[in-house]
Amino acid sequence: MSNKVILVVLDGLNHSVARQCLGYLNGLIESQQATLYPITCELPSLSRPLYECLLTGVRPVESGIVHNYINRCSEHESVFSLARQQGRKTAAAAYHWVSELYNRSPYHPVEDRFTDDPALNIQHGLFYHWDHYPDEALFLDGEHLRRRYDPDFLLIHPMNIDDSGHQYGLDSPQYRNTARKADMILSDFLPQWIAAGYQILITSDHGMNNDGSHGGTLAEEREVPLFVIGDRFSHQQSALIAQTDICGVLCELLGLLHDKPSAEGILR
Ligand SMILES: [Zn+2]
Repeated sequence: MSNKVILVVLDGLNHSVARQCLGYLNGLIESQQATLYPITCELPSLSRPLYECLLTGVRPVESGIVHNYINRCSEHESVFSLARQQGRKTAAAAYHWVSELYNRSPYHPVEDRFTDDPALNIQHGLFYHWDHYPDEALFLDGEHLRRRYDPDFLLIHPMNIDDSGHQYGLDSPQYRNTARKADMILSDFLPQWIAAGYQILITSDHGMNNDGSHGGTLAEEREVPLFVIGDRFSHQQSALIAQTDICGVLCELLGLLHDKPSAEGILR
């Protein structure tokens, strides 16, 4: 049993597309190695507000991070800040807004793209600022951080599914095929992470609509997947989990003192 945690946020992945297109992950469910919970994302269904929600457990209307262009550091404790304060090692391969929320804002590519500073909340970071930055590269960035620094908490956050949804819409071969590709990339890494005993959560910030956007209350914008893998999870399908609970679950898995909300019944 390991206390190390990997959180994968597949940006912009709708729940039903995850169910239909992520064949490898669904294969893990069929072999009782993973459990999928439906999550209804908080509002507005936008990226930066929901990165903050996932990583602090605070709803956008309460965090003040209510749209994508609020460019300041978070005012709440996050899984990164709590882990760092309690002596754990943190890392992220993620979109630069994550660096802005938890390390420093605004992001300067020359200074912040490659981050290596034990005093920061995200101590080891590989950040990117292109929505088309290839998912293959991003997963390799994450795996590099894992192997090189052996972090207790690692965030891996690729953007291509969201990018493709903005270009082609939810009901498009391009959006679905980008999701399938992410599943294939995950199938290269997950067996190693599972064998190493990591607790793994794979989710999304928000879904996608047929207008090639998201932000509102449509089911397709709000319904996102949460796959969990690892022996610390109960794998009880009856457990209920809100997006605001994910930060608390991460803290529990990491053995951190925290006052975040956390889902009942999802952990053993
Ligand atoms: Zn988007």
